[in-house]
Amino acid sequence: MLKNISIYSAISILFLSACLSGNKNKTVDEADTAFQEFEDFFLEEFWKLHPSWATSSGFHKYDSVLLVPTEAERSAYQKSLTSLLDSLYSYSIDALSPAFQTDFALIENELQSLNWYSKEFKSYEWNPSSYNIARSFARIFEEDYAPLKDRLKSIFIRLENVPAYYDAAKINLTQATAIHTELGIQQNRGGLYIFENIRESIQNEDLGNMDKNEFEKRISNAEKAIEDYVSWLENELLVKAKSEGGRSFRIGKKQFDEKFKYDINSGYTSEEIYNKAIIEKEKIHKKMFGIASAIWNKHMPGQTPPGDSLIMVKELINKIAEVHVEKDSFITSIKKQLPELVRFIKEKQLIYLDPAKPLEVRETPLYMRGVAGASISAPGPYEKDANTYYNVSPLDEMTDQQAESYLREYNHYILQILNIHEAIPGHYTQLVYANQAPSLIKSIFGNGTMIEGWACYTERMMLEEGYGNNEPEMWLMYYKWNLRIVCNAIIDHSIHVLGMEEAECMNLLLNEAFQEEAEAVQKWKRARLTQVQLSSYFTGLTAIYEFREGEKARLRDQFDLKAFHESFLSYGSAPVPVIRELMERKRSS
Ligand code: ZN
Ligand code: ZN
Repeated sequence: MLKNISIYSAISILFLSACLSGNKNKTVDEADTAFQEFEDFFLEEFWKLHPSWATSSGFHKYDSVLLVPTEAERSAYQKSLTSLLDSLYSYSIDALSPAFQTDFALIENELQSLNWYSKEFKSYEWNPSSYNIARSFARIFEEDYAPLKDRLKSIFIRLENVPAYYDAAKINLTQATAIHTELGIQQNRGGLYIFENIRESIQNEDLGNMDKNEFEKRISNAEKAIEDYVSWLENELLVKAKSEGGRSFRIGKKQFDEKFKYDINSGYTSEEIYNKAIIEKEKIHKKMFGIASAIWNKHMPGQTPPGDSLIMVKELINKIAEVHVEKDSFITSIKKQLPELVRFIKEKQLIYLDPAKPLEVRETPLYMRGVAGASISAPGPYEKDANTYYNVSPLDEMTDQQAESYLREYNHYILQILNIHEAIPGHYTQLVYANQAPSLIKSIFGNGTMIEGWACYTERMMLEEGYGNNEPEMWLMYYKWNLRIVCNAIIDHSIHVLGMEEAECMNLLLNEAFQEEAEAVQKWKRARLTQVQLSSYFTGLTAIYEFREGEKARLRDQFDLKAFHESFLSYGSAPVPVIRELMERKRSS
């Protein structure tokens, strides 16, 4: 119960700090209107400070701006963040309606977080992959949001600062890590193609008052700046990073704890989550062993189970994974399953689903393939009317052997859990609710921990409500799936805070989380390149699940699961403790 106290105190600081100023004697409507005006002003200023982020969010006013990351630029940037925070604090959060209160909390966290990134985290000193201009140029060049000539105009102006940009990068990078240097080399080299494409496109285009020779010169200078940067990384920085005394990829306890606080924003400390994950792993192992013992003979008749319980579970999982759909019916079986989920949710009264917004399943577009097998494609913050899709990659480009391995992973049981997570009532349903109170602030600064936590929460909730008829095979596979996010949180913390080495990490993933070698190798790499993000799934699940259990205990037979879900989602993609605070305020008002 100590946990609750820490959540409350963190939140009351957040709300109190905003109560000092004076829109107290306004009505809620007046206060909301005034705050909406502030939001418009804030976003305008915010995008000015983050032109590349603006471009990638579909806000194209600053496409022609490439900021040069110098020391002077950074200190001006920090001053702007502080003054934006001051403007925010001239509004009282108490005077606002809940929808704007969450916006307020999101803006506050974002500004404090960016300030911390700039002053404390300082990845500009050690992460060479944080310098990469190709993505924004590609976005401007390849997306058809305006006539090509206008986009080329932005590119022409934007190109001018590229050499200065990489010069500043070299000055900033005083102590890079080897693994981020390797990534910087790979990604900057990988982005060069875009300039060749731009060069080709200007040959036949009427450039108006742009000078074609000057344009070509700027393209060549940009390419040269990138090539110089890459060879500097290879020949100097990487050698230095790999030598003794080179900077470690581990960010250490202090930075990990702080990054966790800003990025995750869950009311838990990183240590609390780590300890919970360790306990959860042991609990899951016990449950899996119990299930495996009960159904061993059914699947392995006549075979003596191995003495080691983890090996026994692994062998049984391998056997049950054989139940899967065929290669060419992967997409059709996903399509067939969605109405089943809808039917179950209605029958059990779990949450209201808007019948006017059915989900469209489509083959993943070619330019998006290669990352995830299935994903939700949501419209960006500035393209509200665009469709939402459930993208599923067909398996026809895989060899039979690759497809078999993939289908064993997404077997009959896991495929259903995946549909719950990605679609209904997971990500897609959450998105439909979030869009009912359309807010640019929430779609730009939405809390990833809440979003992933909700999707993971619905997996367990559906199974608890009897989806899959409580088949032991379904639960066994769920636990394997769930172990992935539990172990993500464990290795994230262990690697960055406790010095976990590769062998220990691989052993955990292969033998205690029952993963395939390829997945584990990939995870060890991702866990060194990123920090905290891998903890978000388990943290979000824990925050939502414990909140719900608390409500159940408090309300006893008055607790209504459907009402809880609908109320929880009505606040949009806000941090769980903020939603919790707002639900409690609503109850007591
Ligand atoms: Zn098979
Ligand atoms: Zn997800």
